[in-house]
Amino acid sequence: MIEIRDLHKSFGPLQVLKGVSLTVEPGKVLVIIGPSGSGKTTLLRCFNLLEQPDRGSLTLGDMKLEFTAGGKIPQRSVLALRQRTGMVFQSYNLFPHMTALGNVMEGQVTVQKRSKEEARKRAVELLTKVGLADKADAYPHQLSGGQQQRVAIARAMAVEPEVLLFDEPTSALDPELVGEVLKVIKQLASEGMTMVIVTHEMKFAADVADQIILMDGGVILEQGRPEQVLEHTTNPRALQFLNRIS
Ligand code: ADP
Repeated sequence: MIEIRDLHKSFGPLQVLKGVSLTVEPGKVLVIIGPSGSGKTTLLRCFNLLEQPDRGSLTLGDMKLEFTAGGKIPQRSVLALRQRTGMVFQSYNLFPHMTALGNVMEGQVTVQKRSKEEARKRAVELLTKVGLADKADAYPHQLSGGQQQRVAIARAMAVEPEVLLFDEPTSALDPELVGEVLKVIKQLASEGMTMVIVTHEMKFAADVADQIILMDGGVILEQGRPEQVLEHTTNPRALQFLNRIS
């Protein structure tokens, strides 16, 4: 289980997270929605300490981290946490000089110290799973955005994380390529992968989420099952956001 308690984060004078608490049960999907600038990406980046919170706590399984202003989390805890989380970015962030196969092998060899043969075997399995077995030897520039993002998902999966974090995984894609990426994420959800997803795709959110969080101004406005948040909210600010995007 993942638990976040009373998380605060500021950038200089700008308070971006103002006390966020949530839990994600194993095998469940949490989707974070909300207006631009509400703190969604910052919250997601706190899950693997790409941003270090100023206050609050984060629990992942048996690992608990407490944050205090000025207190530094030991580097080995940061690394340990990162090994247990996989991140998929908006802009794929593949290694440009490595093939699809090389990208999916890399973390397994360097972080997990697997043998090349083992890493290759798992990489082929994962590329097959995301529908790209025939692109194993292609370099990122030879792949469409949707294909690159599917390689990025395979790469994030390769190190067997306890949770996958997605930061607007389809927002850099041409509309016709969005579906193929969402399909892969849905498949992972149906297989019981624990995931936290920031997205603007509301239909997808309704479809894939076990729980939705609607953020605004650094706080959680609404939190609950998709139909509760998307259809039955009475919060005026939540309604304003939902009406604007529907
Ligand atoms: P969202 O994902 O909801 O659009 P973000 O978490 O990206 O929101 O950003 C929330 C606010 O924090 C924005 O005002 C953004 O400009 C600011 N912000 C995000 N990252 C940084 C940073 N590294 N330095 C300064 N300000 C930042």
